Amino acid sequence: MRIAIGGIEHETNTYAQGYTEIGDFMIRRGAQLLRTSGQESNLGGAVDACVARDVTAVPLLHAWTQPSGTIARQAYETMAEELLDRLADAAPIDGLLLLLHGAGVVDGLEDMEADLVMRIRRAVGEELPIVATFDLHGNVTQAMADALQGIFACHHYPHVDLHERSHEAVDLLIDMYENNRRSRCSVVDVPMLIPTTTTFGGPGGAMLQRVLESEAAERDAAQVVDVSWFHGFPYTDVPHVGSMIAVTTYGDDGEQIARRVAETLWAARDSFRPESLSAEEAVTQALALREAGTPAPIVINETSDNCGGGSPGDGTHLLRAMLDAGLGARAVFGFVVDPQTVADAIAAGVGASLDVTLGGRTDDLHGAPLAARADVRAISDGRLVMTHMFRGTPLNLGPMVRLTIEGMDVIVASRRSQTFDLEPFLAVGVDVARYDVVALKSSNHFRACFKDVAGAIVTADTPGLCTLQVEVFERQRTARRLWPLHEDAVFGDGKG
Ligand SMILES: [Zn+2]
Repeated sequence: MRIAIGGIEHETNTYAQGYTEIGDFMIRRGAQLLRTSGQESNLGGAVDACVARDVTAVPLLHAWTQPSGTIARQAYETMAEELLDRLADAAPIDGLLLLLHGAGVVDGLEDMEADLVMRIRRAVGEELPIVATFDLHGNVTQAMADALQGIFACHHYPHVDLHERSHEAVDLLIDMYENNRRSRCSVVDVPMLIPTTTTFGGPGGAMLQRVLESEAAERDAAQVVDVSWFHGFPYTDVPHVGSMIAVTTYGDDGEQIARRVAETLWAARDSFRPESLSAEEAVTQALALREAGTPAPIVINETSDNCGGGSPGDGTHLLRAMLDAGLGARAVFGFVVDPQTVADAIAAGVGASLDVTLGGRTDDLHGAPLAARADVRAISDGRLVMTHMFRGTPLNLGPMVRLTIEGMDVIVASRRSQTFDLEPFLAVGVDVARYDVVALKSSNHFRACFKDVAGAIVTADTPGLCTLQVEVFERQRTARRLWPLHEDAVFGDGKG
């Protein structure tokens, strides 16, 4: 059996400045895809699943980049055409596994995945089974689902199960091939915008539990293969933004099952209202926790400046509040994205002092540049390997420095990324256990590592493109009523 593997993945924050161009994408072709074996990503999982099941993986093209602004039309067309060309050259194949995100937006194309999947379906004909893995932050539609035989969104946020979902997708392709049958997909749309919400406990964890229980309950009776809960990606202005339940089944009642689970999500919507602390409130709360005997370190995550949701990563709101609170050597910030400051610090050299204008370069929303005197303490090439989420995957943060500003250790990186694990700290000689307060920029992925490191986690929701307050964004492309923007939004009127 031959399974073709490929995809184009992007989480598009339509509120972010500028277009995402083809040069921004990391594009793997052919055998390059196979070298991701052993990485706990959707791609690495797909390659390893084919090896484990003794089927032939036929690698096509895989494109991915950090969440950012709308994809330039030409960039998408170039990648999609190459993917289709490589698919045509791969014949004969017995199944296609697409690795998608679900929240892609192209200039002039509001549903990238629907366009891509339908173009592929037209090219290969009706017979070939096609299944796809997704990020749970996708905004997916029935139009796309109609062209697929399987939908597998990661269950967890942090997305620690992407590779496992690829294994399940390959298993479904093998089952369809060996038993000559076809599953189908139903998507039911829930008109609610969920702020970034972890599934490691809390309301997200409770809802995921209900989804998995319903999947188990329906599996035998209704031939259900999978139930996926798409939280959706609220930081995008498209008509189909929201939350969704997707069901893959061999039976006929996929839509009814999806609707039942969707009703449970809708009924729980009030539990998803976020608590938004300002930078100052978060610092105060962190210090109070430490005062009350909570073990160090207290981690403050600046959720609203999360590169993993399209923010610049150069915001200064939380850093400024920590300096103003006089935390000094009790705290470390890991990290701010600012290639200019890194270059200046490297030119000055370890041991030197220089005046820096740190961060705040991208826009006015994430805080003004911070002017300060800084000592250069350490330099790293920023080439890391991830240890928790995406375990085994290389991460290149570009050149990095550790500065000391007003006694506080501040790590600065050259390339946009959120903080996933301890590696960016270790690269510049920082042991987080020695600090009372550890600050970082991430919404939830950091929890995969820091749940075992932090004495407590406090979330700061400063002004930023990934704020928990999803109602602050202007929505010109969404005509329907969405909770919590509209408290009178209705689920179940047939349109969802
Ligand atoms: Zn995601």
